[in-house]
Amino acid sequence: MKPVAFDYARPASLAEASALLRRDDLEARLIAGGQSLGPMLNLRLTQPGLLVDITGLADLLAAERDADGMYLGACVTHANIEDGRVPDATGGILPQVAASIAYRAVRNRGTVGGSLAHADPSGDWPCVLPALGAVLRLSDGGNTRELAVGGLSSAPFEPALGPGELIIGIRIPAVSPDARWGYYKHCRKPGELAEAMAAVLWDPARDTLRVVLGALDAPPCVLDDAGQLFGGDAGGAPLQRFDAAAADDLLQELGIADPIARQMHRVVLQRAIQRANA
Ligand SMILES: Cc1cc2nc3c(=O)[nH]c(=O)nc-3n(C[C@H](O)[C@H](O)[C@H](O)COP(=O)(O)OP(=O)(O)OC[C@H]3O[C@@H](n4cnc5c(N)ncnc54)[C@H](O)[C@@H]3O)c2cc1C
Repeated sequence: MKPVAFDYARPASLAEASALLRRDDLEARLIAGGQSLGPMLNLRLTQPGLLVDITGLADLLAAERDADGMYLGACVTHANIEDGRVPDATGGILPQVAASIAYRAVRNRGTVGGSLAHADPSGDWPCVLPALGAVLRLSDGGNTRELAVGGLSSAPFEPALGPGELIIGIRIPAVSPDARWGYYKHCRKPGELAEAMAAVLWDPARDTLRVVLGALDAPPCVLDDAGQLFGGDAGGAPLQRFDAAAADDLLQELGIADPIARQMHRVVLQRAIQRANA
């Protein structure tokens, strides 16, 4: 199928982009890499009257590093992260994850902001960035506000953005050199969206033990204090005390009634933990 006819605008400023989104005479939609929106347009799952292309906004292409972490503009592509063309404060986590997204053609155009705004529960960045404690910077063209990445959506594919609001960038805290990180996803074949995914960060220098479970029928489950999966706050090396029964309880609480599906999510989490322990 082909999309319905639409107009196209390439605003020169955030304020202009936001004003276009607020037009009440038609439905306007942002387009960044178009890798998720394009198929939705072609299938006519969305029929906007105007596409607002934000890839020319210099602010959204910024990438900086400082002592506490890094900042990525929303329109930085997966490929630019993969290729190390932007600074990295995560000890190589971001490039590794970027390289595992889809196929190179998708990564060349797909953006980190578009991926978060699309709010696909099986997306890589919506699982990985909350595990790193990342925070979104949002703007409605005038005011800016910050929001934890994990707080962006309460339902799949429904980002909680206000009228005229867009993601302008993501602030990602630095990962300490002695931190342990593990990420694992299960896909039917490479390049496809995951059926189960889990990210684990243990960063004792920052007093952080975080777990995120993705590819659920809901937005990723973010445990900012994941002690419950590791026998509580017993100190030492928590990743070596993974409690599979506690993980199963959690998955049941998340509404996964099918024992085979729970097993898949549990094993994926266990493999992420094994990678962190390696
Ligand atoms: C074949 C294929 C395989 C894929 N596999 C994976 C995979 O394995 N893992 C994975 O994570 N993803 C995967 N994807 C999705 C891909 O990563 C997309 O690039 C990403 O989801 C969307 O980024 P985009 O820049 O293309 O956004 P677009 O498609 O341009 O936009 C997506 C949505 O976000 C909105 N939007 C875009 N930018 C902003 C912004 N700055 N602020 C607010 N709203 C915004 C748009 O209005 C739209 O609703 C796959 C896609 C394809 C086509």
